[in-house]
Amino acid sequence: MRRSLQRSNAHFAKASRKLPMGVSSNFRYWGDKKTLYVDHARGARLWDIDGNEYIDYRLGYGPNILGYADPRVDEAAREGINVGGVFALSTELEFDVASRISKMVPAAEMVRFSNSGTEAVMAALRLAKAFTGKDSHIIVEGGYHGVFDSVLWYSDIEEWDPALGAPGVEPDSDGVPMMLKKLTHFTPLNDANHLEDLLKRHSHEIGAFLIEPIMGNCCSITATREYLLDARALCEKFDVMMIVDEVKTGFRVARGGVQELIGFKADLCTFAKAMGNGYPISAVAGRKDIMMQVADGVTHGGTYTCHSVSLAAANKTLEILDETPALETISRYGDDMNAGMSKILHARNIPHCFTGHGSMSGLFFSETAPTNYRDWLESDYTFYDTMAPRLHERGILCEPDSREPWFVCEAHDAKCLEETLHGFEIAVDETLEELDRNKAVQAIA
Ligand code: PLP
Repeated sequence: MRRSLQRSNAHFAKASRKLPMGVSSNFRYWGDKKTLYVDHARGARLWDIDGNEYIDYRLGYGPNILGYADPRVDEAAREGINVGGVFALSTELEFDVASRISKMVPAAEMVRFSNSGTEAVMAALRLAKAFTGKDSHIIVEGGYHGVFDSVLWYSDIEEWDPALGAPGVEPDSDGVPMMLKKLTHFTPLNDANHLEDLLKRHSHEIGAFLIEPIMGNCCSITATREYLLDARALCEKFDVMMIVDEVKTGFRVARGGVQELIGFKADLCTFAKAMGNGYPISAVAGRKDIMMQVADGVTHGGTYTCHSVSLAAANKTLEILDETPALETISRYGDDMNAGMSKILHARNIPHCFTGHGSMSGLFFSETAPTNYRDWLESDYTFYDTMAPRLHERGILCEPDSREPWFVCEAHDAKCLEETLHGFEIAVDETLEELDRNKAVQAIA
């Protein structure tokens, strides 16, 4: 079986003349001959412009929690169109949606809306820094928090020589002002001693600790409860605001997100993705005393904030997630899928494990899961990287980069599961063959 990407490839050549890399987000570029263009998507399935059909486990990097074009949400969005759009004024519905978020997430005493995850995290960092009067922040290594200058940094573990001290902090993009480097510190996940040491040395300048407890951008590597409770206590001790970035986990891994799952409360938390089933809306939420700074010097806003379509979609999506067993259905599917994959891999003696949560799990080809980004870098992802394009050929759309988890939506059904496991089995066998062939070629060379 070989997909034709003829039309996508021809469109790529055309689009590249107008859109840099032929796309509107760097992560959508998969290579000159591999970049897909979408015709449409419904439920858990997506069709590209060549007519290839996929069961989608990317779901737009997580937003489509109920499935594409969910009729309940789209109907609400149509009613939102009738409200009129944006007004440079507020509507009553904002209170209802904020109240629902507070009900689902106890840490969310007050809420402000934005359009994207990036904007929500940007607002959270600003609030934390204003509240503490301290300009620096800590990011957990391997974390991703959007496309603004304060978070576009990484800890350079790859080039790191431990004999020479801490890893370097490097910009994740050209154009990020180097003067911001001194404001950014890194700590590995699940290492409370490292965090404590960092805070002992720098807490006078650090206003925020930014963490995704299930690393939605690093294979769903998960913080232990013990680590989170230690981090929580350390933030209190050193007067640092704990910002839990739930842009991917929020309203997905549990109604109250990762905070409910693990059992702790953030000072501030951020949401986007699942809250609108794909319609652009996000939120920063948290302690009343921190949030109320927007009435006392902290700027927050935006022309398109709480567009009536997105707000109506969020209202309906959150209602469904809160009041129906959608999340249970989603995590059961994820667990069943992982169990099915495990059976196939065990039968072939392939060591593997899953990380994260059934609704957004990472697949590793080793017996034990990495506990942080440093472990992940040392893990062997050749099997995953070889297998992913083979899954695409079989109509199973996972991220080609193993760092992205497999996202599940409510519309993934028994037929999707059966087809996925069938395709997975074939892709695994093809991968084994290919890796054996490569080994043989290397041995001859
Ligand atoms: N924070 C996390 C944890 C994310 O996963 C993302 C995006 O994937 C963002 C923030 C940025 O969100 P957006 O792409 O909506 O700006």
